Amino acid sequence: MAVQTDFLIVGGGVMGVSMAWHLAQRKVGRVMVLEKSYLGAGSSGKSGAIIRQHYSNRLTASMARQSLQVYEKFDEVVGGPSVFTRTGLVVVVPDKDRGNLETNLTMQQELGIDVRLVSAQILADIDANARLGDDEVAAFEAEAGYVEAVQVVASYAEAARREGADIRLGVEVRSIVTQGNKIVGVETNEGRYSAGCVILATGPWAAQLGKEVGVNLPVQACRTQVALMRRPSEVSKRGAVYADFVQGVYFKPTHGHMIHAGSVMGEETKNPVDPDNYDESADGAWLPGMRQRLCRRYPALHRSYGRGGYGALYAITPDWHPILDKLPGIEGGYSAVGFSGHGFKMAPIVGQLMSEMIVDGAAKTLDVSPLRFERFEKNDVVKAPYGYGVMG
Ligand SMILES: Cc1cc2nc3c(=O)[nH]c(=O)nc-3n(C[C@H](O)[C@H](O)[C@H](O)COP(=O)(O)OP(=O)(O)OC[C@H]3O[C@@H](n4cnc5c(N)ncnc54)[C@H](O)[C@@H]3O)c2cc1C
Repeated sequence: MAVQTDFLIVGGGVMGVSMAWHLAQRKVGRVMVLEKSYLGAGSSGKSGAIIRQHYSNRLTASMARQSLQVYEKFDEVVGGPSVFTRTGLVVVVPDKDRGNLETNLTMQQELGIDVRLVSAQILADIDANARLGDDEVAAFEAEAGYVEAVQVVASYAEAARREGADIRLGVEVRSIVTQGNKIVGVETNEGRYSAGCVILATGPWAAQLGKEVGVNLPVQACRTQVALMRRPSEVSKRGAVYADFVQGVYFKPTHGHMIHAGSVMGEETKNPVDPDNYDESADGAWLPGMRQRLCRRYPALHRSYGRGGYGALYAITPDWHPILDKLPGIEGGYSAVGFSGHGFKMAPIVGQLMSEMIVDGAAKTLDVSPLRFERFEKNDVVKAPYGYGVMG
């Protein structure tokens, strides 16, 4: 006999558990999450989880802004311990991108975001360890920081359970079951689950289940890498988070005097992988180059203590933006996938918007039509003037 539910979310990453909490709060039916592995086993548990509002588009900047307001008081809103550390964000671009940067800052200021250009002198006051060249331009976003990713996932899951959601681990959805063009459930390694609404929150695995119902979700699992190092003792002050488009790196100070660093150059698209079988270690040859790039911005890291790194997954769409939509032609099917290496900061608003789409028929808090599925077929993709995909 099939297990019965109403809203069945596939995937227990940050998107799945945020949507579970939002949907369960609406009290419009039974909510279930099926996760084939463990909570946060995909991108979410390995995320840098930097929370910034710096985007080139109003929609994504607004999504980040509304989510930041949740992360800042996550313990009060969702429960569990507080998760947010405020550091500020420094964005550095080559002088040739000054115009694009200024355009972005103007748009962000119109949304109420506290951002401004900063000189080398002011940057030194913000973060004494940083260097800025004469041919480089820097901006500072004061409200930015990062969250404790694993805790966010755990707290959302706990909050969803408190609202009555049923979260099951070790249950792999193998196919979506339809009658005509209507979803009636899923087949799993444990047999049939019946549900009239199935929401894909399957991260880097997104393309797999879509195919089952004739929907080609253009999401590619790609390998990314993270370098970890222990800051030298003279860098005792925490410092800011950086998005450095001159050196092509992002980095953040983190707990235990560590630095977490990765690339912002989008080379992940050259590394498509099988999400069930990819190299979870960092390439030995990649780490020294990463250190060199970091040292050009933050010379003291020359004396940092290498702690290796790890490999992880991005779920990349052709325009590096997610797909928040119904599954086309399949009644009862939805997708919140393809967050392309920058989704963690948006998880609170994604949960809210998707619950509105599912329960009320359309997302109300923000117009998410630019993130609809058919934008790829209609060649109406989201544009990012920087050309720095992961920054959106
Ligand atoms: C190294 C790294 C750094 C990052 N840094 C940042 C950052 O600084 N800021 C930011 O905003 N974002 C960042 N991101 C991106 C962010 O982490 C992701 O966009 C976000 O975590 C995606 O969450 P998700 O729930 O969509 O996917 P995932 O966390 O991948 O969750 C998908 C889940 O679905 C499960 N699943 C898949 N298929 C099935 C199935 N058939 N049946 C059952 N379960 C299934 C998987 O096991 C997995 O747990 C980073 C990502 C990485 C990897």
